[in-house]
Order: sequence, then C-alpha cells, then structure tokens
Amino acid sequence: MVLTDRVKRFFGKKKSATEAASIPLKIVPRDEHSVSRSQISDAALKVLYRLNNAGYEAYLVGGGVRDTLLGLNPKDFDVATNATPEQVNNLFRNSRLIGRRFKLVHVVFGREVIEVATFRAPHSDADSPKQASQGEQGMILRDNVYGNKDEDALRRDFTVNALYYSVADFTVHAYAGGWDDLQARRLRMIGDPETRYREDPVRMLRAVRFAAKLGFTLEKATEAPIRELAPLLEQIPPARLFEEVLKLILNGEAVSTLNLLRDYRLFHALFPMAAQAMDQDEYALKLVTNTMTNTDARIRAGKSVTPYFFLAALLWPRVRELQAELEANGEPAYPAMQQAADRALAHQIRTTAIPKRLSIPMREIWELQLRLLKTRSRRTKELLSHPRFRAAYDFLLLRNESGEDLAEYCEFWTQMQEQYPVEPRSERSSSDDQPSDDRAPKRRRPRRNNSNRRR
Ligand code: ATP
Ligand code: MG
Repeated sequence: MVLTDRVKRFFGKKKSATEAASIPLKIVPRDEHSVSRSQISDAALKVLYRLNNAGYEAYLVGGGVRDTLLGLNPKDFDVATNATPEQVNNLFRNSRLIGRRFKLVHVVFGREVIEVATFRAPHSDADSPKQASQGEQGMILRDNVYGNKDEDALRRDFTVNALYYSVADFTVHAYAGGWDDLQARRLRMIGDPETRYREDPVRMLRAVRFAAKLGFTLEKATEAPIRELAPLLEQIPPARLFEEVLKLILNGEAVSTLNLLRDYRLFHALFPMAAQAMDQDEYALKLVTNTMTNTDARIRAGKSVTPYFFLAALLWPRVRELQAELEANGEPAYPAMQQAADRALAHQIRTTAIPKRLSIPMREIWELQLRLLKTRSRRTKELLSHPRFRAAYDFLLLRNESGEDLAEYCEFWTQMQEQYPVEPRSERSSSDDQPSDDRAPKRRRPRRNNSNRRR
C-alpha cells in the first residue's frame, strides 16, 4: 500500500522515503482473527453503526481491539472516525465535546463512556497554531489537526494500539507491524521513540503499564530512552499524572508495574518521597510492596480497591519520619501527625495531585494509627464504629507485616472486633466504604473542561 507524503514526512529524517513507504498495513479478514461483535459492548457497537450509517468511517481502536485479540476483557472501548468532533457531537444527543489540546467526544450510555476521536494527522499539516503547537522541547501542546486513517495510525503510541476493527466488513487493520508484535507479545513505539516520548512523556508511563498488564516485553529501541527521559514527567500537570497513577496501580499488576516504574526511574518522578524511602529503607519497600500485593489480590478476586489506602501507604514512611522529628522537637503526638500529614501532602501534590476526597481519608488513616495504640483508653469500643476504623486497622496489620513491631495492638483490635461485632458497614473491608467513583479507573462521566488528555 502506498502511504501519502504527509505520512512519510512524519517518519522524519531518520528514515528514507522508501522505508517509510514500506510501513505495512496488514488487513486481517474475519476468519483469521478472534474479534467478534459479541465481545464489544452494545454502546460501542451503537456508536460504530450510527457513524457508519451517517456515511462516516468508524473503527474500534486501541485497547478494545488489542485486549479482545489477547483474550482479555477491554477496560473500555475507543472509536476513531473521520467525522470531526462537532459532527460526532451533532450525531449523538448523549455526547459531549471534551478537551482543548486534544479535542474529542464522549458518548455517554449510563456509566459507560465511549470515547470518539477524530483521525489525527501530522502537525506539518496544520494551518494555524490553534490546531497544533509544540513546546520548546518537543512536547505537544495542541493536537487538533485532522487527517485520514493511515495518518492517524502513525500518531498512535504503540504498534499494538494501532489496530482498527471495522463493523462494516469485520476486518482488523493492523499498522506498522502491530499484528506481528501482538503475536510476539512485544511493545514497540511507532516512529522514533525519543521523539514520541518528548512529544508526550506520559507515553513512558503507558509503556510500563502495558508491559506489566499484558506481560509484554518492551522492544529495545522503545525501552532505551526511558531512563534518561523520565524527568520529563515533571512537565506534566499533576492532575493528569494522578489519573495515570490510578490506571497504573489498579490494573491488576501493581507489583510488576511498581518494579518497572522504579527500574526505569519513573517512580521517582511520580512519588519522589516514596521512591527515596524505598531506595533507602527496607521497611518502606516492604510496606509498599505488601500494599501492592494486596491490591492485586483484591482486584483478581473481583473486589474493589480504594486509592486512598495505597496512597496512604505510599506516603506513610515519610509521614512517620516527619512525625517522629516533630515529636522529638517537643510537639505533642497529634499535632505532630497533623503537621507531618500537611507537609507530606503539600510536597506530594507538586508532582502527582491527590484530590481532597482522597487526602481526607488518608489523613484519617494516619491519625487513627495513634489512637489504635491507646488500647487502655475508655473509648476503644467507640473507635470500632469510626467510619475509617476498618481501613486504619488493615493499615496497622500492614505495618506490622512490613516490619514494625505492632503485633500486640493488632491482636487487641482483632479481639475487640470479635467481642463487639458491629453493623454490616464495619464488617466490610477497608476498601468497601468508598463511593464507586474512586475505584478502578473506569471512565468517569465527562467533565466539560477535561483538557488533561493529550497525545
Ligand atoms: P486502556 O484503555 O486499556 O488503558 P488503550 O490502549 O485503549 O488502553 P486509551 O488511553 O484508552 O488506551 O487510548 C486509546 C488509544 O488512543 C490507544 O490505544 C492509543 O492508540 C491512543 N492513545 C491514547 N493515549 C495516547 C498517547 N498519549 N499517545 C499516543 N496515542 C495515544
Ligand atoms: Mg481504551
């Protein structure tokens, strides 16, 4: 197949036009792949058919195709089309235009959101900086130049994410060797990896997430620049990093994700205090690893996981250290804990944001750690009905398992719960008392000004 000049230009100076022209598109017919409509949500099918019926091209792309081919359940379904965001928006009453830097449309079906993106073209096609702009170091600041499907494929991150499924003829269109990479379980960046990471440093986090979640190996050239470029994550807004952190930790493979993040020095850019503590202190490493092991076990068992619990664990070594310092300087225990929490959180949110709805219960867990040591208090029974008691108790067990000597307190509170079994609420696990919105990174209901997302 012959690619357009614009596509060839995208590949830049490093590749000759002949090489660029040979970038393959493999069309896999229905009887040679395993994607069937029964695996695609009704909502996604509705979007695809409505777009097709209105005369537009529309494909299922990304994780929806990749995961289905791998026999996994996709987390969500994404659609790519040649209709502009405005045209898509006009076609679906239940849709919203989202984002400025990367405009797209969310079509909302109850709790399910189908993300519809218009085919993107290289920035050399831009007519004005309103459509496309890049920062000094190559970071993409605006990405709204529309193109065709071939061009769009080259703007996607990894080859296994450049797979397009059509409900018009049920073929899968695999670009840039994505089909072979999927069979070989290999993650390969499309184009020049360094350039693509500079355009959007979050792609480094995505590389690690997909490698861990899918058990794929990072192809050499894709892996090579990551350690050196990891500090570029500092340029990413903390709110966007927070969204990525949820996806990283709640993907069912938090332990291997964490190992890869540390290995590639990416973890330091996300959680500098936790990273430092884990490098220096066996206890911190154990605490965080045990937390991630529990998180994975809960997700595998189909249970929900609340981010405040693992976030509380990530920051705990530093909070505990600060609290001890303040106490040593004469501050009473409780105010010392509050100040330690203030400082640790203030420092943390400069890199990865933590919304208030999570930092409030994090503080509660930390503060309750002090109250759980007061086993002679007359108010021990009262504490059992504290809304955060169960989380704080689980946290105490975790600290004990990770090397703090708290066995006596753990035993006390275990017995208290046996002696005074309480209402169903407290019998639930630490992680079950959180509104569903804070759980696994399902797509949320769209916000009007969601300009976080960027390619
Ligand atoms: P999952 O939904 O399981 O996290 P996904 O591959 O579907 O995986 P999404 O974030 O839903 O990831 O994005 C859908 C698709 O959009 C991706 O498969 C990829 O093709 C493209 N994409 C998303 N983010 C980027 C990015 N930062 N750079 C380039 N392409 C991207
Ligand atoms: Mg997706």
